[in-house]
Order: sequence, then structure tokens, then C-alpha cells
Amino acid sequence: MDSNIVVLKFGGSSVADNLKLNVVAKKIIDFYKENLRVVVVVSAQGKTTDGLIKEAKELANLPNDREMDVLLSTGEQVSMSKLAILLNRLGYEAVSLTGMQAGIKTNDLNQNAKIENIDTTRIEEELEKGKIVIVAGFQGYNEKGDITTLGRGGSDTTAVALAAVLNAKHCYIFSDVDGVYTTDPNKITTAKKLETLSYEEMLEIANEGAKVLHNRCIEIGEKYNVPIVTKSTFNNKPGTILQDEKIQNIEQNKLQNQIESKLYNKQDNIENKTYNKQDKIEDARVKSIVKNDDIIYINMKYDTYSPEMFYKIYATLVKNQIGANHLQNNSTHHTDISFTCPASALNKFQNLLEKDFKSFDTTYTNISRIAIIGHGIRNDDTILEKVLNIIELNQLEIYHLEVNESKIAMLFTTKVSNTILEQLHKELVEE
Ligand code: ADP
Ligand code: ASP
Ligand code: MG
Repeated sequence: MDSNIVVLKFGGSSVADNLKLNVVAKKIIDFYKENLRVVVVVSAQGKTTDGLIKEAKELANLPNDREMDVLLSTGEQVSMSKLAILLNRLGYEAVSLTGMQAGIKTNDLNQNAKIENIDTTRIEEELEKGKIVIVAGFQGYNEKGDITTLGRGGSDTTAVALAAVLNAKHCYIFSDVDGVYTTDPNKITTAKKLETLSYEEMLEIANEGAKVLHNRCIEIGEKYNVPIVTKSTFNNKPGTILQDEKIQNIEQNKLQNQIESKLYNKQDNIENKTYNKQDKIEDARVKSIVKNDDIIYINMKYDTYSPEMFYKIYATLVKNQIGANHLQNNSTHHTDISFTCPASALNKFQNLLEKDFKSFDTTYTNISRIAIIGHGIRNDDTILEKVLNIIELNQLEIYHLEVNESKIAMLFTTKVSNTILEQLHKELVEE
């Protein structure tokens, strides 16, 4: 029998204030009225999580990891309870559950915990009573019974994991954008919406740091074949559908049910996938361009050198899941090691530094990475040529260049402006 459960996830900008919570409540009620059992996952309101991190850092330069998770988890609890209060007032029974109440068991890696399993007993009991269940995103609990958080943007992962274990029909990710675009539509206004995407393509885009979906939610979606639909909270346009490529077309038609198609305007800015006579059939197509400015270049120096030191540093970074990349041993005369890591891992890294590598001379630089993604782009030399041309014209310095089957990625020595993204998008996507 087809499942009648849907999971709806609303991000920070969607639940930012009471006015927006009313829009969200209305959306939830629309689904509920379709005789669907509705599980909602919410993020913290607006920039609450950023604010909590900032406040903790004002109290202690290197806040304790366990306590940080206790603090950060409060953001989602505020939004889930407000939403439940509102839905109850509107006459729809709703119950809010923390990660622990929802049975979300994780490992014990603070601020980057992985979901191990979910005991859905309580959620199912509440659904059975006809209630709308609202779960706090981004949080779970570990073996000790302590609160853990899943990493920045982790509410998407809560939603898709719940959709997988509940065998939900669809997992809808609602945000301020109505789908996945050829590049960040908030940076480049000519970006085009992608109607469908395979998990593989989306994973590349998310791994490069496009916020629209948390990378780990895509892995879960692929593993358990959860159809993920990204849509806007603030309009009813069709979103981007992410699922197994073979069933994409069939599902695309099925999805045009009442909720989906309201106010749908065919003129929407959607990427055209049909063959047209000017096409060269085997030409590679750039699917999406991601510019990530949340990357830190770290350099660590020490007077003496030993190869063991390199291994020790690398092992420590891996063990603590710092997300280190582009690791380089710059000298064999003295220790001079560089690597990059996401800005969100900086607090954790500084904790390690304090503990294990205090005597190192360590410097940090904010840099950007741009990735151009699309199947077969290595086979078309003109793409790389055009990219390098733009970089040269803008006199930018590349620290690391990566070219593979489906991606060209450049790491710069500084932060680069959106103008570069605009030029690349114009040349590679709009042409
Ligand atoms: P939420 O708070 O709802 O989880 P996020 O901020 O995490 O939302 O993700 C949505 C944001 O992702 C958008 O505001 C947009 O700026 C950004 N984004 C980056 N790249 C893309 C892309 N290729 N397509 C759509 N949105 C993108
Ligand atoms: N509130 C968390 C964050 O800001 C989780 C999320 O929004 O998905 O990262
Ligand atoms: Mg997000």
C-alpha cells in the first residue's frame, strides 16, 4: 500500500517570525487536508543559530563542545513549540518533539553527529491520534543520553532520515528559494531553475557548499530512494525533484497534484531540457556553478621537521572530522603544513590546536572555491579554456585546480567576488 506520510521541512528563513509561521502553518494545513499524515521538521528561526554561537564565543573563546550542542539545540525547540501553539490555535492538533523525544539516536560527535537509527514509536503514536507531528531538526541524542547536533544545515538531514524510516511518500524541503538553480539565484539573477536532478548531481552541488540542501541528506535520499522536492515556502511554483533518474519523468507527472500545481505559471524560469535543432547532441552541459566563500586556508609551522608530525596532524584532523582538504606538506626542512577546512569547523580546530599543537605558528586566510559541475565536462576542452580565460582576465590566483569527469574546481588564494561567478555563469550556462 502507498504510504500516506509526507515530511515537510521548513528552514530558518521560513519560520523567522510570527507572520512567516502563519504562512508555514497554512502550508502544513493544505497537506493535512489532503488526508496525508504530516510530519514537520523545523530549523531555528532566522539567524538564531549564528547568534547563539556568537554569544557563546563572547563567554568563552573556545566553548565546550558538549555545552555548545545543548545551547544550539534550543533554537529548533523555540520554533517547533511556536508552530505547535499556532496550529493548535487554528484548530489542528499538533505536538512538538525534540530530537530525543522523536527517537533520533546519533553517535557522540558533537556538532557533527551522524544519525545511527530512529525509533519512530512516539511519532507513529502521535500520527495515529491524527496529530501533526513537529520535530526539531538538527538534533538527536547519543548513547549517554546527551543532546547532539548534526552540523550546520543539518535539519535537512533530519527530514530526509525521518522520511526514509517512515517510508514517506515525499520529503519536501521548503526554503526561501523555489528549487535548485544553475547557480545561487540570490547572487545571480539570471540563474535558471533545474526541474529534476539525480542524487549524484545534487550531491556534487551540495558537497561544494551550495546551501540549498545539506549534503548528508542527499546520501540518505539515495540510499533509501526518498524522493526529495525542494520548494519555496512563499510561492506555489513547482520545485526541483530529486530522485532516481529512471523514475524521474513518471514521478514528475504524478507530482502535479493539486497542492503542487496551484498558481503554476508555464513561463517560469525553468531550464529547457528538450532537443532543439541547434544542439550538438554529445556536447557536455554545465549543470550548476557553486561559489563557496566559507572556506579557511590554514597554515601550520614548527621549527623542526619529522614525517611523523605530518601523519599526526592529519590523523588528528580526520579523527575529529574537521573536514580538512587539500592537505599539503610544503617543506622537509621544518614543519610547514597547509590545508583547507570549512569555516564552520574552525571552533573545533582551534580546540584541537589548544590541546595538541599549541606551540605551532598557525595562520588563517578566508578563501573561495568555485566548482563548475556537469557530466562529461572533462571531454569538452572548450569549457576549461573558457574558465581559465575568465580567471586570467580577472588576474586571479589559483591555489589548486581540480579537473575530473564531472567537475572543474578552483581554489583561490583569496576571497573572490560575485562578478567572477556572474561571468562564468554567463559564458558557460547562459550561452
Ligand atoms: P534554509 O534556511 O531554508 O535551510 P538555506 O539558506 O540553507 O535555507 O538554503 C537556501 C539558500 O541556498 C538560498 O537562499 C540560496 O541563496 C542558497 N543557494 C546556493 N546555491 C543555490 C542553488 N544552486 N540553487 C538554489 N539555492 C542556492
Ligand atoms: N539551525 C541549524 C543551522 O543554522 C540547522 C539548520 O538550519 O538546518 O545550521
Ligand atoms: Mg538549510
